[in-house]
Amino acid sequence: MVGHSTVLLEGAGTRLLTDPWFGTSGNLAYRRLAPPAFRREELREIDGVLFSHGHWDHSDRKFLRALDARVPVLGPSGSPAMRWLKGARNFRPMRPWERCAVGAAAITAVPALHLARTVGFVVELDGSCAYFAGDTYHRPFMAEIGRRFRIDVALMPVATFRLPMTMGDRGAVAAVADLGTATVIPIHLGIAPRSPLLRTAQSVASFERRLRDAGSPAAVVHLREGESWAAPALAMKPNRSNTAIASGPQSQATTARDLSSSGRERSAARA
Ligand SMILES: [Zn+2]
Repeated sequence: MVGHSTVLLEGAGTRLLTDPWFGTSGNLAYRRLAPPAFRREELREIDGVLFSHGHWDHSDRKFLRALDARVPVLGPSGSPAMRWLKGARNFRPMRPWERCAVGAAAITAVPALHLARTVGFVVELDGSCAYFAGDTYHRPFMAEIGRRFRIDVALMPVATFRLPMTMGDRGAVAAVADLGTATVIPIHLGIAPRSPLLRTAQSVASFERRLRDAGSPAAVVHLREGESWAAPALAMKPNRSNTAIASGPQSQATTARDLSSSGRERSAARA
């Protein structure tokens, strides 16, 4: 967890970064609660960027501009302006259900709905399957994602503000049921409205309460900035995916590479 919606996914020597944002001060309406665990320069050695949409807290212009032109930035189609506005030199637009390979990862763009052109991603890597939701609301397409993939871990928002910009705790519980995910790692927790009028009582705790009330067996792993989580071995799981990479070696698909030279990596949280 780098911070907010920026997450480093790693497996089989492939490193992917979601929605890069390294700003520390927020904007007029929202403040950033904690600085990102890494600086821009520390995460340039990656194989690809998964870019859900162009809002300020998901698209770091300085980072994208400095990125090597060989590094693909996968993002929503139909937004040509985004490429040059945000400075991504190797922008690859993707439509829902389109697939591509980046390093050892098989990546599928999936539908998402937000106040901007947006796309979600399913990443199959090293025998694990992760869903990155971006800022989406809960919608029926999540059941379709759950049908097509055996999701091991869902990186998704679970709390929202008075003007709902993502799914809130109630929608997130429905999303977990639709996706059938074993584990949820909440994202989009790095900013808070400056105005108390925009705040809600929603939190990871309120989401977890609702999840338990609904009888869901899904685990919730709340990662703070700099913490990492390793996907459990998949050998015992039934294969209900029509696309999953079959029984790979025991995997640690979401473990951060040894970045401890920066002295910032903290303990690994396990489900
Ligand atoms: Zn956002």
